[in-house]
Amino acid sequence: MKITILGGGLSALSLAYFLQNNDRIDEINVLEKDDIAGGLCRSYEKNGIVYDVGPHIIFSKNSNVLGIMNNLLGENNEKHRRSNRILHKKRFVQYPFENDLSKLPQEDIDYCVNAFIHNPFENYEATNMLQFFLKTFGEGITNTYLRPYNEKIWKFDPAFIDVRVVERIPQPPKDDILRSAEGETIDGYLHQLYFTYPKHGGMESLIKAFIARLKNKVKVHTNARVFEVEKISTHYKVNTFAGVFESNKLISTIPVNEFCHIYKDAKKTQDILEAADNLLYNSIAICVVNVKKDYAGDNYAFMVADKNVKFHRISKLDFMGKGYHIDGTTTYMAEITYRKNDLNDKASDAELTERTIEGLQTIGFIDSYEDVNFTDLKRFEYAYVIYDLKHHQNMKLIKTYFKKQGVYLNGRFGTFEYLNMDAIIQQSKDLSDKIQVDL
Ligand SMILES: Cc1cc2nc3c(=O)[nH]c(=O)nc-3n(C[C@H](O)[C@H](O)[C@H](O)COP(=O)(O)OP(=O)(O)OC[C@H]3O[C@@H](n4cnc5c(N)ncnc54)[C@H](O)[C@@H]3O)c2cc1C
Repeated sequence: MKITILGGGLSALSLAYFLQNNDRIDEINVLEKDDIAGGLCRSYEKNGIVYDVGPHIIFSKNSNVLGIMNNLLGENNEKHRRSNRILHKKRFVQYPFENDLSKLPQEDIDYCVNAFIHNPFENYEATNMLQFFLKTFGEGITNTYLRPYNEKIWKFDPAFIDVRVVERIPQPPKDDILRSAEGETIDGYLHQLYFTYPKHGGMESLIKAFIARLKNKVKVHTNARVFEVEKISTHYKVNTFAGVFESNKLISTIPVNEFCHIYKDAKKTQDILEAADNLLYNSIAICVVNVKKDYAGDNYAFMVADKNVKFHRISKLDFMGKGYHIDGTTTYMAEITYRKNDLNDKASDAELTERTIEGLQTIGFIDSYEDVNFTDLKRFEYAYVIYDLKHHQNMKLIKTYFKKQGVYLNGRFGTFEYLNMDAIIQQSKDLSDKIQVDL
């Protein structure tokens, strides 16, 4: 039995890892377009500083998956306590925002608290993200932080984002909001309060750990961009830049919108192509800036809702320990999202770097351009799935189609779901169990 997996990110490698123990499987070919496997879990290096595609941390409510990740990393893993802040008018507000209201200027505290206590939206049914924020947190917290921040990261009006993205966020008790306004800081989202991160090598260490445990029957082919896939009777033929691969089973983890265009039969199916083209996603630019000063303190990530600042989040890489620090300097990683053809997409790398440095000055993390030692900017096309109001309907059509074709979908953009690493590994485990039943 031969299996082909399209893509070579965490979803492909973890799936191969789970499948490899089945004796009925003789060969698994993992096909990755880039020269190094890992996808969004890859890490990059500039002047000795290793950084990820946006800050990647390991946390989960799923103890089994957490155990797998921790075991794989072994000694190269360190525990940290979350210290994230929201930057509001140059003030550090603890994350989540509603749990640390006393840090706001008094007029903002009054707006947030009054609109929460006397909330006219409380009893409405929320059908989109914006309505959910208004109903759950009131107009003050929504307009002061949640709405501008979410507009900035999604680049899409929250009124057109599906409520499924946020509906599991619990409504804070009135008492907590009052305590937070009076000066008590309450730790929220407790499952993320502690997290781990590799001591060195960035999040790609996890990818390397998976690859190191793959048996000989698993082959990871890099520089193997898939450009056509065809089902011939009961087997699949995959054309790549590294040759042709044939198999009895096929799993795709590459962005499903692109997969529809290279899967020969789907190309003849107009409604599938339309659904694929209507799937929305964000891209991301990551800008690393090493500076002479440190105004960030012992904190890691800062959320910035202020629209005058280009990035929505900035992380202090030194927080992760000695392996991510150059003596006498501080290294930040700023994240800027964008959609095809918008201003950030069209801006040159030099312009985005300049806007990032300007932003650092606006939030008070540098005094002038003279403080900057070096920068590095990289762009990644697929970063965030956007759950617009038609996402569910589009994906239902696509999933039904590929199920009939006997093709399995897996991964963040493979299934077009907002999945973190823990959910990806669980999805791979579940799919591996299913495939072994289907063998
Ligand atoms: C900014 C950001 C921050 C994140 N932070 C966290 C975090 O803190 N914690 C956490 O748990 N998760 C985090 N994640 C999520 C995590 O990165 C993903 O869940 C995970 O990496 C997805 O793996 P994947 O294999 O599904 O997708 P990908 O990593 O996208 O893999 C898909 C692979 O397919 C390849 N490919 C595409 N087209 C082709 C083709 N035609 N032929 C061959 N190969 C192809 C790509 O090159 C890629 O390697 C974050 C993600 C982002 C974007």
